Amino acid sequence: MITVQIEKIQPLQHNLSKMEIQKQIKELLDTLPDHVSLVAVSKTKPNQDLEAAYQAGQRIFGENKIQEMTQKWEILPKDIEWHMIGHVQTNKVKYMAPYVTLIHGVDRYKLLKEINKQAAKNNRIIDCLLQVNIAEEETKFGFNRTELEEVVLDLKANPLPNVRVTGLMGMATFTENKDQIRTEFKNLKNTSDWLQKHIQDAKICSTGMSGDYELAIEEGSTMIRVGSKIFGSRNY
Ligand SMILES: *Cc1c(COP(=O)(O)O)cnc(C)c1O
Repeated sequence: MITVQIEKIQPLQHNLSKMEIQKQIKELLDTLPDHVSLVAVSKTKPNQDLEAAYQAGQRIFGENKIQEMTQKWEILPKDIEWHMIGHVQTNKVKYMAPYVTLIHGVDRYKLLKEINKQAAKNNRIIDCLLQVNIAEEETKFGFNRTELEEVVLDLKANPLPNVRVTGLMGMATFTENKDQIRTEFKNLKNTSDWLQKHIQDAKICSTGMSGDYELAIEEGSTMIRVGSKIFGSRNY
């Protein structure tokens, strides 16, 4: 009888060495304009990769799963700023409220209210970004302009003292079409300028990832979220 050895399928995840990670971080930190901050998106990556980035001077890390972020927060140095960049379920807010620095993906008023409630329980004010849908794809979360205007009105009518809206977050369409991406970034910047007239603290414009952050900065991004360029590709 012949047995056929089926080779294990190679995972697509590509982990970079500590030196490679540190080189990427240093290059990014050296080249970014002063008004742009870097969120190192470390989702799915092991603690040792975050430690490498930390040793190269990186202090802001972005995660999209609450359990993973909390486990990393418990173990890694306490001066790290943890940013939740994923979609947030209302019932998960309580787990991050004790320590999260910035929640990027706030896409409904109900979520803001829950963040306010949990922040108050922890005697904190939690910074939040309102997610704006700038992409053509149906699947992306976020407010459109009309909904955003409603949220601003809601916040004026019912201030949430333990929440500070510090800006907007957006994701461009996943496409090769640079003109389209540029237009979407421009739209986000316009909306950001509009929001700042209503909410003074709302200065952050969080947009741009590994593939498009240079374009994003050209079009006014003040916070980029870069994962695979720093840590290598992920296999999920
Ligand atoms: C994963 C993720 C990123 C980083 O993507 P890369 O292409 O790996 O740089 C940025 N923003 C959000 C919201 C993400 O989920």
